[in-house]
Amino acid sequence: MVKLYLAIPCYNEEEVLPSTADILKKKYTELISNKKISRDSKIVFIDDGSKDKTWKIIKKLHKSDSVFSGIKLSCNRGHQNALLCGLMTLKDYADAVISIDADLQDDIEAFDKMLECFENGCDVVYGVRSKRDTDTFFKRFTAESFYKILNSMGAKVIFNHADFRLMSKRALEYLSEYKETNIYLRGLVPMIGLKSDVVEYERSERLAGESKYPLKKMLALAWEGITSLSIKPIRVVTAVGTIVFMLSILMLVYFLYRYFTGATVPGWASLAVSIWAIGGLQLLAIGIVGEYIGKIYLEVKQRPRYFVDEFLNDDKE
Ligand code: UDP
Ligand code: MG
Repeated sequence: MVKLYLAIPCYNEEEVLPSTADILKKKYTELISNKKISRDSKIVFIDDGSKDKTWKIIKKLHKSDSVFSGIKLSCNRGHQNALLCGLMTLKDYADAVISIDADLQDDIEAFDKMLECFENGCDVVYGVRSKRDTDTFFKRFTAESFYKILNSMGAKVIFNHADFRLMSKRALEYLSEYKETNIYLRGLVPMIGLKSDVVEYERSERLAGESKYPLKKMLALAWEGITSLSIKPIRVVTAVGTIVFMLSILMLVYFLYRYFTGATVPGWASLAVSIWAIGGLQLLAIGIVGEYIGKIYLEVKQRPRYFVDEFLNDDKE
């Protein structure tokens, strides 16, 4: 039987945590009695340096029932790092780990199908949302265009898949081989390869509390996704630079022709415009190059991505 662990990153989730725990426990009891998962399967909350009572609640849950466990990060490191910490810690204990958000917007009934795919030999099972009805037009539009842009830049991302997925112990071992600091899990996991499948589900509203992903964090994640997976933006700059340079040679020929035929004009406008245009272009190019240099800077330092503060674990391997 599969020893299934759930990895749930939580940041200031005191409002949803009790009901999330309730719902997940019911699901686990059902899965255990149907002999789909083993008795020592666990539900693990990863506290991403919350400022509210999240960790207190997790400790209480762990005390009341050994199916619950918790990992506490030393400070807030963001969703991707918290999730990675969970996956990397739990891979030593579980046969498979499902990652899911604390607000249960993703359908837990998809667990069954994910487990089925796992039994059929898949190492990675992606949860994919079939509809985006519960999202605002803005979120849907930006999210869908983002997947398209990423794919057009050569990164393999699964359309409409967030971080709701099952990964086998083997897939997690392979994921741990990626030593980079700037991580975008949705881009890294498909790069592992191995047999995978997709399970569709409908995404619902948040159970309680409000989104911990304001526009600023969303944009940061999108930017991380692009710059950590693709170097196409640099190539685009190079291409634009080449075209502008060629155009400027044509312009030079034209200006020389005007000069020698005696039709010179003050030419202030064209000069001013070109100074601004080229200046702007250079700044843009420097900015994008700088972005990658910044990444190199961070990577060469090989900083650890997280530290575990506490790990409520009574599972002896
Ligand atoms: N989260 C986290 N660290 C952060 C921000 C969010 O661990 O710095 C967790 C959060 O607790 C939730 C998940 O990431 O379990 C997704 O966040 P949320 O549901 O607020 O995002 P949305 O669904 O609105 O995109
Ligand atoms: Mg959510």
